[in-house]
Amino acid sequence: MAKELTMEAVLRDDETLPGQLRELIEAAVVDRATDIHVDPVGEQVRVCFRIDGVVQLKQRLGREEGRHLLNQIKVASKFGTDRVLKPLESRIRWRRREDGTDFHFRVTLVPTSEAEAAHLRVLNSPRSMVEVDQLGFSQAQLAKVRRAMSQPEGLVLISGPTGAGKTMTMYSLLSLLDLENSVGISIEDPVEYNMPCLRQIQVNDRQGLSMHSGLSAILRMDPDIIMVGETRDSRSAVTVAHAASSGRFVLSTIHARDTATAIDMMHYYSVPRHVLGNALRMVVAQDLVRRLCPNCKRERKLRQGEAKLFEAVGVEAPSRVAEPVGCPKCGNYGYLGRIGVFQVTKVDEALAAAVTEGKKTQVLRHLIEARGDSSLTSDAYDKVARGITSLQEVGSLYGMATGNPGQ
Ligand SMILES: [Zn+2]
Repeated sequence: MAKELTMEAVLRDDETLPGQLRELIEAAVVDRATDIHVDPVGEQVRVCFRIDGVVQLKQRLGREEGRHLLNQIKVASKFGTDRVLKPLESRIRWRRREDGTDFHFRVTLVPTSEAEAAHLRVLNSPRSMVEVDQLGFSQAQLAKVRRAMSQPEGLVLISGPTGAGKTMTMYSLLSLLDLENSVGISIEDPVEYNMPCLRQIQVNDRQGLSMHSGLSAILRMDPDIIMVGETRDSRSAVTVAHAASSGRFVLSTIHARDTATAIDMMHYYSVPRHVLGNALRMVVAQDLVRRLCPNCKRERKLRQGEAKLFEAVGVEAPSRVAEPVGCPKCGNYGYLGRIGVFQVTKVDEALAAAVTEGKKTQVLRHLIEARGDSSLTSDAYDKVARGITSLQEVGSLYGMATGNPGQ
């Protein structure tokens, strides 16, 4: 089905946004939600927020009230109240009255078997921009990151699954560069944050502005720094690698689990091995874990058998770990916000040679881990040892037994 795209932002302030929708948006901002889902389910309309990566039911509305809310979303997005017959996309920009802060939402409306559903993605709540030392890097990782970012050229890849915070990390890393005294251009889909001194180009496939055509145009604009929202096709991957091996600093995200698979993906995208070996400077692989609420987390002694979990990934077992409790500050959830877990891999001569030789993923992974770089799992357990997150959280992410929950 053809996707109807109208990307212009509709600015609303407190006064012009209709009441029910305004209350919903305000609640989402207060709850730090990243997504709002409005779905008809039987006779009701269910409103859910995604908070810290977990979908939570916010309210159930009756049929009339729910339809009213959906109509307000459609009108605010510049669509009429006619029934949605095909996917529609728009944006709403809402200015909070108290402090003049702008919040951007991408609105998607789709017809469903029941009626129609709406999804609002919070694109850039102001708190989303995080300083690089707040992302969750260890001191050693941070030093490596800063060194790689101080080089004049090369490719830096940020890899991870969907929703792992790659884009946030990319913007944070970009803020380490001297954008004021260089030409920095980005191609993004969508532009999620406005970066000062960066010329940001938004992909618009309908108008013929694809990731690759945008990238080609950027290369003719004499850039020093190029940011590519996501490398997700062969032509872009090859262009990215060539640009980085010919004097440009290129930063991009890629959908891959860890450093070795990110390199594998670039091979899969037909990037010539010697070009990749020559261009690649650093890979930052990441995931997100929930951070224990500092207000209510509770310490307990390590239980029998739990020390082994740490030792298995090369982390010294702590004597105590923290676990979630729940309080009003965290919505009784026990967790408040998320923090990155990282594998930061500097591409040294040995690794560059292995990439150029086209070594297999497993060989690359062994090579990386033999250097003593932390894996994502060991970094996650390190964050448990430091009381930042819990064994339950890390165990559920990395599929490991975490002691006896019944005790
Ligand atoms: Zn709490």
